[in-house]
Amino acid sequence: MTPIRYLMDHVDEKFKCINKTGVTPALCVCEDIGIPLSDSFTLKVNITSNEIFLSETFLNYLWAFTFFSFVYQEKSNEYLLGNPTAICLPMDSELLKQALRLKSFCKDIVYHGFTAWPKDTIFPHFHGEPSDEIEYFEVRTNGLFSTAIAFLLMHEVGHIVLKHMPICDKKTDIEKKIKYEAYKPSDGDLEPIISAESDADNFAFDVLLKLTDSDDIKLNNSYGVASACVASLFCIKTLWGVKSKFHQASHNRLLHSIQKINLLGVKEKKYFAHYASQSLMLFLDQNGKYLTNYDAGQDEYGFLLDTMDQVDNAIGHFA
Ligand SMILES: [Zn+2]
Repeated sequence: MTPIRYLMDHVDEKFKCINKTGVTPALCVCEDIGIPLSDSFTLKVNITSNEIFLSETFLNYLWAFTFFSFVYQEKSNEYLLGNPTAICLPMDSELLKQALRLKSFCKDIVYHGFTAWPKDTIFPHFHGEPSDEIEYFEVRTNGLFSTAIAFLLMHEVGHIVLKHMPICDKKTDIEKKIKYEAYKPSDGDLEPIISAESDADNFAFDVLLKLTDSDDIKLNNSYGVASACVASLFCIKTLWGVKSKFHQASHNRLLHSIQKINLLGVKEKKYFAHYASQSLMLFLDQNGKYLTNYDAGQDEYGFLLDTMDQVDNAIGHFA
């Protein structure tokens, strides 16, 4: 049992609170030792038993990744505001060292699957009032994590409500065939699956965004939704993985989530676009795609999306 289980009662409560669809599957966390996350499932529905299975390894990954990316975003914003000519954030505080340890834990999970929680590193659990900065980020991560999971769960509920199960079964069949028979699905096979996945995403966005009109709460919910999208981008082992067979390309999923969220305030919009840019920048950098032809003053986020499109299109020629 890993520490993420401490949060599951809270996740269950939040899911019940926002899910007014009448479709009420039970949540089951399962251990899945030994399969790299990039090849494993994250969540899946069993319509017969009315259950949604959640991979414990994925839940650990999502919490750890959310902590890392939230700390990195907040601290680099703060640092760059005080040091406008600086290029990157020095990772020298205890908080940033903890965040880096969790980032490396995430990488182990993506490549090797289940990994024990790193020693001497913060882990998911409940606090009362945070008493220091690290605890503050832990508490915020708990909130973002449960929103991210709520989004992913409502995506699965969306599949049930929108009666996608025959398409989802077909997807499972194709996945098995690709894995065991080196099968190449046709566009005709994939189109209904990609369209069902987009519809399920839209269903989940609508549920989460209808919860409030307040930009502050929306920003928090948006961050949770974006954490789920960014975390799934970083589940990819190489740039080739950007071209998902069953979903729209990962960066477009993130872009789409930003468009759907449609924050009203300029400050909130900027904050969120910066988070998305920073995540794409890290992702490209981690995969050896250095941004050499970027001109200072250019719209950073637009530039990154163009770069991701080029990657996506290039892969399209070979995939
Ligand atoms: Zn789906």
